[in-house]
Amino acid sequence: MSTDPRLVLVLNSGSSSLKFAVHDTEHPVPLLSGLAERLGGENAAITFKEAEGKLVLPLETATHTAALDALLAALSHHGWLDRLAAVGHRVAHGGEYFTHSTLITPEIVNDIDACSALAPLHNPAAVLGIRMALTRLPNIPHAAVFDTAFHQTIKPEAYLYALPIALYREQRVRRYGFHGTSYRYVCREAVRLLGLDPADHGLVIAHLGNGASATAVQDGVSVDTSMGMTPLEGLVMGTRSGDVDPGALLHIMRICDYDVNQMDTLLNKRSGLLGLSDLSNDVRELEAAAERGHAGAQLALQVFVHRLARYIGGLAMSLRRLDAVVFTGGIGENSVRMRAMTVTRLRALGLVLDEASNAVTTGGTSGLINAAGSSAQIAVVPTNEEWMIVCDTAALAAQATALESA
Ligand code: ADP
Repeated sequence: MSTDPRLVLVLNSGSSSLKFAVHDTEHPVPLLSGLAERLGGENAAITFKEAEGKLVLPLETATHTAALDALLAALSHHGWLDRLAAVGHRVAHGGEYFTHSTLITPEIVNDIDACSALAPLHNPAAVLGIRMALTRLPNIPHAAVFDTAFHQTIKPEAYLYALPIALYREQRVRRYGFHGTSYRYVCREAVRLLGLDPADHGLVIAHLGNGASATAVQDGVSVDTSMGMTPLEGLVMGTRSGDVDPGALLHIMRICDYDVNQMDTLLNKRSGLLGLSDLSNDVRELEAAAERGHAGAQLALQVFVHRLARYIGGLAMSLRRLDAVVFTGGIGENSVRMRAMTVTRLRALGLVLDEASNAVTTGGTSGLINAAGSSAQIAVVPTNEEWMIVCDTAALAAQATALESA
């Protein structure tokens, strides 16, 4: 029998895409990763990325099942199918059912499906992916890892909206929060990097990617977060608006005669950095344009930073004590300029940046970027959500095997 480390397949099934990664359980860098896209449409294709390079293959049948079959054929080609120990499924919404990652059983699939009312675009696709993978790989454990689970520790005063309480009691309308897998990973790494007590710390972590959110973490658990029932609330994002006065939304619906779908597109696809700049959703591009004097790009970045600083300050008030502000995600890990602009706006909290450390902490490095006199530490910690899914899945699979052999 092979002594090579066992492998975990991570799947993230979207409505027209299937993202995947194959990890051995000892290394945070995937052996193989990729994406099948345009599923259900024309020109469906699957892209495989490995250390040696990238391979794009057309998919003759544009279905999720055809994409999974192409992926399993690639695993078989590498001789990895026999080493596959478990599958980890990323699921957007776990509602109030799921407070932790869990092994998948038929009942669990039904519970995930029951959360579809809260995430009608995301959960049905995840359920489809899970059912398909269970059919193709029935003899190994499957686990579900939820973006919302980490935030289930948030108390009612922070998760309730001031709407008639029946909407919460009957429809479960409340704040759930997202990016939980990232926060769990970054919190653990930050506590280690900063030498904090795992049982006594207060962090505000800003996960700034195309989707952006910030979370207050106290003693390892989430106590407040900027995203809401959906990932639309809170910070300015690539193409999502974040907070808007609900009254303004009603006004727009009336004056533009927009229906629900048009509002959905406006707020999710046409807003955020893209909408404000009228140029791009990509911070790197906006920074280059702002440098050249593009007024829209400058304005979009300023609004992003203003909102972010306001949220960091507000979230700190949900903590007993602020030990550190931590940046992560593509923007948080790489943008020297956005971090500098944000910390400058946090001077009322006594935060002070060290310009030289800020300038060199990019490209996947972690480190401290605060000056000596800063009231709290400031850190950059690269996230690795996928690795967290691998670790959870491997741990749950080991439990399942132990139960079986008991
Ligand atoms: P996603 O949410 O899709 O995972 P990422 O975490 O990859 O997104 O973040 C993407 C964002 O990070 C983009 O706005 C991109 O411009 C920004 N980004 C990546 N590298 C840099 C960089 N060197 N400087 C500034 N912004 C960067």
